Amino acid sequence: MKLLLPGLFLFISSYSNAQYTPRLLALTDGTLIDANHPTATLHQTILIKDGHIIDIQPDGKPFPDSAIVINLMGKYVLPGLIDSHVHMATDPSGVDNHPHTLQVLEKMLYSGVTTVRDMAGDARVLAGLARDANIGEIPSPDIYYSALMAGAPFFSDPRTQAATKGGINGNMPYMKAITDTTNLTLAVALARGSGASGIKLYANLSGELAAKIIAEAQRQNTPVWSHAWLQGAKPSDLVKAGILSISHAPLLIYEKVNKIPADWKKPVLDAQFWDKTVPSLDELFAQMRLHHTILDATLLTYKKWAQTDSTMKWDYEIARRIALRAHAAGVAICAGTDDDQEQFVQEEMRLLVSDAGLSPLDAIVAATQNSAAAINLDGKKGTIAPGKDADLLVLTRNPLENIDNISAVELVIKGGRIYQRQD
Ligand SMILES: [Zn+2]
Repeated sequence: MKLLLPGLFLFISSYSNAQYTPRLLALTDGTLIDANHPTATLHQTILIKDGHIIDIQPDGKPFPDSAIVINLMGKYVLPGLIDSHVHMATDPSGVDNHPHTLQVLEKMLYSGVTTVRDMAGDARVLAGLARDANIGEIPSPDIYYSALMAGAPFFSDPRTQAATKGGINGNMPYMKAITDTTNLTLAVALARGSGASGIKLYANLSGELAAKIIAEAQRQNTPVWSHAWLQGAKPSDLVKAGILSISHAPLLIYEKVNKIPADWKKPVLDAQFWDKTVPSLDELFAQMRLHHTILDATLLTYKKWAQTDSTMKWDYEIARRIALRAHAAGVAICAGTDDDQEQFVQEEMRLLVSDAGLSPLDAIVAATQNSAAAINLDGKKGTIAPGKDADLLVLTRNPLENIDNISAVELVIKGGRIYQRQD
């Protein structure tokens, strides 16, 4: 059980639940940091009504007496963090069982993550989780999820079997094998009917077929996300076709390389080797800028992989250089972990700063504004602005001075509801 800290009690004296939703809430004297407040903006009052931010005003300006007031003097207010790449329901009968998933989601929310994009799993389960999360019935980040489309060979993958149990693997509305004869109008409509917010392209698709899916999805106002390489489709094929985000930085190497050479898979190669070996992707980055394609770099998952298997070191060495060069070239990077069980998006932010050249502010923008844009939610989330969802993270230390301070959580607000850890 989590209770509001005594400090907070003073301001909202008659309420003792860990979760509390005042009708009108005034956060006073906070220091704002987001994409629109790149230098910490002091002494601001944020007014929240019915789950939305209704105004931001300098302290001292009057507001209605009926507001519950929380004074945030000396505290830093950021938009709630958004993980653009999680998997909460790949195997709902096994590792992703309901009690476990609820536990992870609760921990994630209290750490400051208020929204996640699930990049394909069992949508029958995700629909229920998203419903409960998005209306505040379970302590969880808001959940937006994908419907997966891939070439037929991909459906021998055991993950697809686990995520379609009781149904027909390869022919579910949310997880479908696509061939040249698939009725794409129907496939996209069925994908939307599964409650998915977007379509994720995964593997074994040609550039031509991927472009057809993207065009049909655009016609039906549905964003399309993709692995950055689909065997048949190069990263630039997807970018030119209008993909909204491409996942996994090291896959961008397939723009220039057809197969990873065996001699890259040695654990001993040093930084100089990789600096020379990773080819220039400047043309691809220019295309990404032109088409506003967002790079979902997912450094954390590659970092962990390299740590457990030294022959996979190449993957991380390439990942971090591509992320670094993409960022330097002006490509928007969002923050996705693809690894959501123990460490959350704060760890991806740390890696973006330490290994990919992002400033702490860039990493905050990646995990807020850019992740919101990747989910097609930039009108609703990702900055602290009137009209947006009241999803906020309050810190006791300044994250612009040190990105590690992203973990100095005072409280989290999601949809106007206050969540505070007891410890
Ligand atoms: Zn993934």
